[in-house]
Amino acid sequence: SRPLILILSDQLSTDLPLLRNPPDDAVVALCEVAGEGRYVPHHPQKIALLFSAMRHFADGLRQRGFEVHYSRLEDEDNYHDLLDEAERLARLYHCSEIRVIRPGDWRLYERMTRRRRGRPAWQLVEDDRFFCSPDGFADWAGNRRQLRMEHFYRLMRRESGLLMDGDEPAGGQWNFDHDNREPLPDRLDIPAPPRHQPDDTTREVLELVERHFGDHFGSLEGFNWPVTRRQALSDLRHFINHLLADFGCYQDAISDQEPFLFHSRLSVSLNTGLLSPREVCDAAERAWREERAPINAVEGFIRQILGWREFVRGVYWLRMPAYKRENRLQAERGLPDFYWSGETEMRCLNRAITMTRDHAYAHHIQRLMVTGNFALLCGVKPEALCDWYLAVYADAHEWVELPNTLGMVLHADGGYLGSKPYCASGKYINRMSDHCRHCRYDVKSTTGDNACPFNSLYWDFLERHERELAGNHRMKLIYGSLHRMSDERRRAQRDKARQVLEAIRFEPAYGREDHL
Ligand code: FAD
Ligand code: SF4
Repeated sequence: SRPLILILSDQLSTDLPLLRNPPDDAVVALCEVAGEGRYVPHHPQKIALLFSAMRHFADGLRQRGFEVHYSRLEDEDNYHDLLDEAERLARLYHCSEIRVIRPGDWRLYERMTRRRRGRPAWQLVEDDRFFCSPDGFADWAGNRRQLRMEHFYRLMRRESGLLMDGDEPAGGQWNFDHDNREPLPDRLDIPAPPRHQPDDTTREVLELVERHFGDHFGSLEGFNWPVTRRQALSDLRHFINHLLADFGCYQDAISDQEPFLFHSRLSVSLNTGLLSPREVCDAAERAWREERAPINAVEGFIRQILGWREFVRGVYWLRMPAYKRENRLQAERGLPDFYWSGETEMRCLNRAITMTRDHAYAHHIQRLMVTGNFALLCGVKPEALCDWYLAVYADAHEWVELPNTLGMVLHADGGYLGSKPYCASGKYINRMSDHCRHCRYDVKSTTGDNACPFNSLYWDFLERHERELAGNHRMKLIYGSLHRMSDERRRAQRDKARQVLEAIRFEPAYGREDHL
């Protein structure tokens, strides 16, 4: 029978399994629906990126001879719910079956699976654009109580053959992280990303998004995300030729002025499907073999994609849907309201949030050690923080956002994903960035009037969670320091933390059953 092949906004890969040998009479459908644009208030750049990339992808399929139905947001007959709209199209084209690749979030996966035996029947096909399948990951994870990325990563290196010389890791080591993690020098030239001129399609989408989603947090000005494979490849070339060599050493650095530093900005193209993880890793390895980039940079970069990206996806599919309800540190606060405006005198947070507003981007250390760390120290509830990360970044899809936020940042899974919480005081931010020089707070002070808020919150967090964390051998040193402090000092830190928390306006915390 005639199938409707539904392509989702993060499945824009020309060699998708469903597009390899489809029946001659298949109809391919792509749908812009308000429901997907609104279930969290996505950044306008993220919506524009996805709609424009979908429109370009549909044009490419038509040129390849496919019959394509493209539902536009402003079509009058659009049902605005992804599944209902696909079923409407199936009826319109007399298709008895809808074929779709496993979607990137549980919410859609669960709804589609429930309609497997419906009319039209939904048929889910495995996504083969990853190095590791959910079943392969489950086999590796077995019954382990805690998972360690590094072990999984070595398996992936062996299985993929990436950076391997026979059975041995290329360069003689699996991991070169000790050569990385340098702060930025005072003067450094950072090549600007390629500029993608918006064509008619992108301009039309930008106007559409402004009309419908202009009230969401985030600016559309300066939109510069790749919306075609050609543009994505140009970003990849730029990264390999101009940035990769310095990626390793400045991977953890934060700049008060430069949003992208030596990061690739490739998560967007990887996650929409415009680039495959294999080709990105191959290009990086080639640069090392041709002596255009050092091993610490190339290994560090490949580890992010072959290791972390695959690992968090494995955890997501293994542990959902229960994972989303985890809250082991019993955090109960809503989000600080300035996460939606950047209006705070804490310079590091102000810069991370305004860069996010302007670019729908912040690099990993800003997400983890600035906005993430602060929310962890304040006790922000996982669902409030997860909704924020899912909304504000152009690369955000739940399979990758949730484990990073709930697991890595908030330690809400009890250490299943990461061995210790990434909590830190202002000292870390001062070491890795130049923010503190521009800040009204004093990073060296914990309890004085101008004390950096991170400091008292940090010690307060450690005290509050001593029961859960003190047994962790990676936290021993820091609990040792806490225990050596006088009672008086500890009391002063607690009082200061209370004052800091009282001065922040937290949004009301909410329950999110409706999102599951
Ligand atoms: P680079 O620094 O150039 O890294 C190269 C690539 O490695 C990235 O493009 C990405 O594909 C991959 N990568 C690196 N770190 C991770 C990681 N921890 N998990 C998965 N992949 C990784 N990444 C997303 O793609 N989508 C998200 O929604 C997302 N949410 C995050 C939320 C939080 C709280 C944190 C701490 C991290 C999150 N990340 C997410 C991971 C990471 O921050 C981004 O992948 C990265 O910042 C994207 O920028 P880049 O392409 O310049 O990365
Ligand atoms: Fe951030 Fe504290 Fe440094 Fe200010 S002093 S930039 S709040 S770490």
